[in-house]
Formats: sequence, C-alpha cells, structure tokens
Amino acid sequence: MNQSLWARWCHEYLIKQSNFWVMPAIGLHSWSWRQILLLRPVANELLIYKYGRGDKFSLWFDPWMHGESIHTLYGHRVIHDTRLGRLVLVKDVIREGRWNWPLNSSDLVEIQHRVQDIPITLTSDSIFWVSTGNSFSTKLAWQGIQARSAEVDWHKLVWHPARIPKHAFCLWLVLRRAHRTRDKLLAIGVLHIASCVFNCGEVESLEHLFFQCPFTHNVWMAVLAMCNVLRPISQWMDEVQWMLDHARGHKFLALVRKLAFATSVYHIWLERNRRCFKNQFMPAQEIIDRIKHDVSWKVWLGRKS
Ligand SMILES: [Zn+2]
Repeated sequence: MNQSLWARWCHEYLIKQSNFWVMPAIGLHSWSWRQILLLRPVANELLIYKYGRGDKFSLWFDPWMHGESIHTLYGHRVIHDTRLGRLVLVKDVIREGRWNWPLNSSDLVEIQHRVQDIPITLTSDSIFWVSTGNSFSTKLAWQGIQARSAEVDWHKLVWHPARIPKHAFCLWLVLRRAHRTRDKLLAIGVLHIASCVFNCGEVESLEHLFFQCPFTHNVWMAVLAMCNVLRPISQWMDEVQWMLDHARGHKFLALVRKLAFATSVYHIWLERNRRCFKNQFMPAQEIIDRIKHDVSWKVWLGRKS
C-alpha cells in the first residue's frame, strides 16, 4: 500500500516481522501506539479489503476472507499445518488462477471450500475506507470513527448511560450502515452470491437483516413482545424512528426498550457472523433467550447501583 513516512517508520520499528492485526496491545509501546492498536476492531469494520491477485495481503493475518482473517477464524493451528510460515501472501495458495490450499487438515479443506466464491483477478489487492474507491485519510477516519453522531437524532438511542458498550458499538455501525453485509460484498466483487445466511432465499442487506428476514423478524417480534409491545414490524428506518419516539429519556420502560433494541441488533449480527464464518447455527429461541438474559442482567445491575 502507499505509505507515508510515518507508516514506513511504524513498519520498520514497531511492526517489524509481525502483523498489525495480531500485535499485542500491551508491553513497552507508547500510549498512542497502544491506542491505535486498541482501535483495530473499529478499523476492521470500516476497512474494505478488495481482493485481487493476492499480491499484497498477508495470507494469515489480513482480513481478506469475507472481512475476517484466517488467523482470527482458525488460530495458529492452520498456519502450522500448512508449513508455509507466517510471512506468506495470499498468492502463495493460488496456482494457475485457482485456489490451491494444501489440504492436510480438515480446517484447510474447509478453507479451500470457503474461498471458492472469492474471485481471483489480475488486479492488485487494495484496501478502501468505508466504501470502494475511498482511500484512507485521517479526515475520513475522523468522520468515520468520531462520528458526527452528536448531530444525529439517534445519538441518544445508542450512547445512553445504561448502554452495553459492545451492543452500542454494533448498533452504531448498523445506523452508520458500516457493516459489510453480503449485498455490499457482492457489489465490490468479494462474493459471487449474496444470499441471506438464514436461508430465506432473499439477498442479505441491512434492511433485510433488520428485520425483514423471517428469521430475524421472529426474533425481534418476540423481543418486542417481552417489552409488552405488540405491533407489526416495519422497515429498518421506521423501526429506528419508532424507537426514537417511544424510547425517549431514562425512565425504566424507555431504558428496557433501548437495551432490547441494541441487544437484538448485536445478537442477530453475531448469529449472522457465526453462520457465515463458523458454519454454526443457533436456533431463534436461544438467541431470544440470550437477548433476554443480557437485557435483564443489565437492568438488574443498574438497579443494584
Ligand atoms: Zn433472510
């Protein structure tokens, strides 16, 4: 990638032979470098790794496989199994324009199968920020991360004092339309098909996931029912508007609705990722139970303090 003097310095003196995505954020580093490392999950959600011919991405550590890295999904074991070493690039598992993983473990067979829908092209690998064509700049990063969210009306829906941080962050990404849903990955050529992982036959988009898909629709219906809300479910932006109108302030009922909303979005996104990347399926009732558990736990903690 094009590198500034600062970026080259970071590579030379801080990252060295390691990889930015897996460096520990503890140790002798400066405070500012540690803070940068702690922002990696945010960066990972907003960066788009556009796969080309595998000439730049680290095979193990860059999140080039449907937004995740092989190391995140499979750990060290696959690296060891391939005997390819830690420094290889993605092109090292491509031969004559086809994926050619060494198939000496079940994980590797699974990976070989899983990458089949990632097209190999003749162009160089590239990374974009938030949308294809945007190069990273500190201005765009500032806009993306710091969020002019104070200016938007859903700010209080996300960043209220009783929020569960990881749920709030996930909801914030959905509201900023920053999640890489499969329709987006299809548009930039990362996937060949964008069908919903809940097997309804529709295309996965943000509107579909929240909550037009029959699976997620049922989950959200059940959660609303637990909050004593019985109404039909609308399009995503209408659901957000309903929350803005009916979950204002810090009264108990408003708080429970806000928590239930963010927690549902979080658990649905989590289940979507589980199905996408781990091939594991959790029944709707279990997801509903987890949402209920998280909300009640938070409410109970709030009452204690
Ligand atoms: Zn669906």
